[in-house]
Amino acid sequence: MLNLVLFGPPGAGKGTQSEKLLEKYGLVHLSTGDILRGEMKAGTELGVKAKSLIEAGNLVPDEVVIGMIDNKISENLDGKGFIFDGFPRTQAQAEALDKLLVAKGTGVSVMLSLEVEEEELVKRLLERGKISGRADDANEDTIKNRISVYNQETSVLVDFYSAQGKHVGIQGVGEIDEIFEKLTKAIDAVHVG
Ligand code: ADP
Repeated sequence: MLNLVLFGPPGAGKGTQSEKLLEKYGLVHLSTGDILRGEMKAGTELGVKAKSLIEAGNLVPDEVVIGMIDNKISENLDGKGFIFDGFPRTQAQAEALDKLLVAKGTGVSVMLSLEVEEEELVKRLLERGKISGRADDANEDTIKNRISVYNQETSVLVDFYSAQGKHVGIQGVGEIDEIFEKLTKAIDAVHVG
């Protein structure tokens, strides 16, 4: 299987690049943010619980997102692989993902980390907020909190995957197609076929 962790701070372009990657490689897209927003929209118990955390720009508890991902992996094991978008976001989630994949006889192929500096992220997210209707994109304080949560809890995963020799840093500023090309080069370097 080809299992990609598409990594980077909020607003780095993970969603945009995921769409292009899953089309090229025929992968299943697992975005914990999309799944959680779906639960919120449907008004499920999980969605109701997650709403206030998400709207404040905080993380949803590890066990909740790990459970969601576990289910989705099990449902799609007959596919070519996965793009993990917005997951893992903590050390505990990364460890859990390794365990889940190993139990299925597979593993993370590569972690692609989109690098964009903070000023640009805030600009992009405020722009997106005008059309996305996402409460967590609507104001600068929430956006800054998301970036600070990323810096405190998520960015350490660069070290986690570097230690496994799986981290590739990709400059996330420039034309969408240009960034896509850099991603595909990195993927094709670890994956044949
Ligand atoms: P972005 O990458 O733009 O921040 P996402 O759509 O990935 O947006 O996530 C939106 C929100 O959903 C996050 O701020 C967080 O509250 C919650 N969330 C998404 N993925 C996770 C995760 N893996 N662990 C905990 N919370 C998550």
